[in-house]
Amino acid sequence: MITTLQQFAGNERTLSAVQTMLQADRVPQTVMLEGPAGSGRKTLARLMAAGLLCEGETRPCGKCAVCRLVQTGHPDVMEIAPEKDKTAVSVDQIRRVRADAFVRPNQGRCKVYILCGAVRPEAQNAFLKILEEPPVGVYFILLCRHAGDWLETVVSRATLLRLGPVTWQQAKTALPALGLPADDETRLRLEQSGGLLGELIAPAGKTDPAATARACAMALAQNDPPAFLVATAGVAGERAQHAPVLEALYALLYGALRHRATQAPASAEETALAKRLSSQQLLAAGQAVQAALDRLPYNPNGALLFTALCARLFHTQS
Ligand SMILES: [Zn+2]
Repeated sequence: MITTLQQFAGNERTLSAVQTMLQADRVPQTVMLEGPAGSGRKTLARLMAAGLLCEGETRPCGKCAVCRLVQTGHPDVMEIAPEKDKTAVSVDQIRRVRADAFVRPNQGRCKVYILCGAVRPEAQNAFLKILEEPPVGVYFILLCRHAGDWLETVVSRATLLRLGPVTWQQAKTALPALGLPADDETRLRLEQSGGLLGELIAPAGKTDPAATARACAMALAQNDPPAFLVATAGVAGERAQHAPVLEALYALLYGALRHRATQAPASAEETALAKRLSSQQLLAAGQAVQAALDRLPYNPNGALLFTALCARLFHTQS
């Protein structure tokens, strides 16, 4: 976890601007953090919030109780994201922020609202009033891909900071804090992500393709179609995850086949699959997964994709 500005990779200009603002106690009340997904917008927003509230010497110190609390959930740092099943922050959510901003901080000397994700235009309009005259000690950090996602009237009231991709050399400062090894694989993954370090770490709550594939394999081994659908529900809406899940499932099916044929050492899932399915069934299942992989470019609907695959996979068993 990145807890100090020094650990943040690359983006020197933005970081030195933030450091100057914090040191001089002159953080603008509305900051817009612009950058692609994975460029560290939320990380930097939390560092700024920690910097505003921190009780250490060089803020954020990353060590004091306040800094630690910001990372896990500080009562005066609010992160506002679209509600479940919604793609953008709603007017109601902004109205609640507006009302809450006039309430004194719970613990700290100020309150910070981090707006993550898209905000509906009418909600942006509702937001404008408070941005015109924010209450003393209230800070808004707006995260976005492009400043153009916000109404010009909002943009004109914010101080814009930009984040971009990083090089391998720059990424190295952040790797230990992110728990990533400084090896060739990480380097390759960084290149594949286009220099977006955030893409290399599975954000909390986001699904892990390998874990999803393992859950699918267990559902198959236990002849439990509903469990298969539950396992894939989390990734159905994330198109980028479809291929990694299918590839990992394919690998498990072939691992099971190999285990069946040669008694080669295998994972718990592979062993369970080998026990329940015949070689022929494993082959058929592998082919079904391969066929789903081949059709991916024409199959943008994840729910349909996994339902169809589920039907085919469990059909091969009966
Ligand atoms: Zn601190």
